[in-house]
Amino acid sequence: MLDRDNDLTAWDRDHFFHPSTHMGAHARGDTPTRVMAGGEGVFITDRDGKRSLDAFAGLYCVNVGYGRTEIAEAISKQAHELAYYHAYVGHGTEASITLAQMIIERAPAHMSRVYFGLSGSDANETNIKLIWYYNNILGRPEKKKIISRWRGYHGSGVMTGSLTGLALFHAHFDLPRAPILHTEAPYYFRREDRNQTEEQFSAHCAAKLEEMILAEGPDTIAAFIGEPILGTGGIVPPPAGYWAAIQAVLTKYDILLVADEVVTGFGRLGTMFGSDHYGMTPDLITIAKGLTSAYAPLSGSIVSDRMWQVLVQGSDEFGPIGHGWTYSAHPICAAAGVANLKLIDELGLVDNARVTGAMFRAGLADALAGHKNVGEVRGDGLMAAVEFVEDKDDRRFFDPARKIGPAVSAALLDRGVIGRAMPQGDILGFAPPLCLTEAEAETVIAAAASAVKAVLG
Ligand code: PMP
Repeated sequence: MLDRDNDLTAWDRDHFFHPSTHMGAHARGDTPTRVMAGGEGVFITDRDGKRSLDAFAGLYCVNVGYGRTEIAEAISKQAHELAYYHAYVGHGTEASITLAQMIIERAPAHMSRVYFGLSGSDANETNIKLIWYYNNILGRPEKKKIISRWRGYHGSGVMTGSLTGLALFHAHFDLPRAPILHTEAPYYFRREDRNQTEEQFSAHCAAKLEEMILAEGPDTIAAFIGEPILGTGGIVPPPAGYWAAIQAVLTKYDILLVADEVVTGFGRLGTMFGSDHYGMTPDLITIAKGLTSAYAPLSGSIVSDRMWQVLVQGSDEFGPIGHGWTYSAHPICAAAGVANLKLIDELGLVDNARVTGAMFRAGLADALAGHKNVGEVRGDGLMAAVEFVEDKDDRRFFDPARKIGPAVSAALLDRGVIGRAMPQGDILGFAPPLCLTEAEAETVIAAAASAVKAVLG
């Protein structure tokens, strides 16, 4: 039997291979094991009874907050009725079919069908295969390369880890793999030419993209993938005019656009989809996290009508599509998704993300933008980031070895609030549950100001 107090930490260090964790430090006990035990609203509690306000919603996914009985009951009901049946050769359940309908109702008007997966990574894997399949149907076997951005995050698989444009996810894994290329990140704060306006910088990013397309040969470039707002790469909203400028280039060379909305789908920016928010017209939309608020693992690739028409036409020649996951459209996950999307509507969480998000970001900027080591406070909807610099006037960054971002995030945790030290740069990120109240936002702002003062004076 488990001796909770004595054994759990030891068992963890001896047997649990954690993702995104320093293996040696954890096994030696140099980094803490935190055993999470419960959650209610925006708060989580560990087994020692320590409560934290989770201002990153897990990994920006618990959008409706913790402890929602409506979703728990939907999961339980589905598990009792029918825990599993596959979705191959035309099978479905009431939950999975209803969820597909609800997703398409909420998605931008030109979207048509949804292919279900389990994670954001596998949905992007599906996207890559659909893009290749599409160009094979159209008789364009050379048009296969996919352009992503430095600092983009699209998953951790072999191909999706290649799409991701962060050094940590490539180094020592022999990634990225062909045929994936990376273009400039739309990171205005870190632009090289500091005289550029946002619009000029957007035009510069579009020009760099076009340069890459021409150098590679337009007939070899199949698609461009981007998060509407960069997430894991630093929570960076696109500069003014960015998506319009990028889309003009893509249209010119007949290149598909994939909007990776794993983070932004279902309300995080104060609109149902980030594509609507920034005027994007994607051919594929990746969804995951907010689809079930992480009550069960579920993702999807939403396919535009234009792309669907080609895929359907191709199926008469190619036969059934040779791509499927055992757990595609898993009924328990789909039931969680249906209950979650209903809850988002009933609680008005998309509006709350917009209104409370604006208040939260303004408050954070008021509290921190004047600090000598805060280079920028930025964000959109209920996503925000504070970027630290050693010298504001020179925009000189701290030596990464000083780990300023992790130090501020640790100080924040000491004050009862969870933020995230983003993996590249000294950036403290926030993406709280969409049910955040104004009072809770004030708590996060006060804790952040105090944590920054404690670390940087
Ligand atoms: N795309 C984006 C934009 C993400 O933020 C993430 C996860 N953070 C993924 C894809 C990958 O999702 P998963 O971890 O579920 O594979």
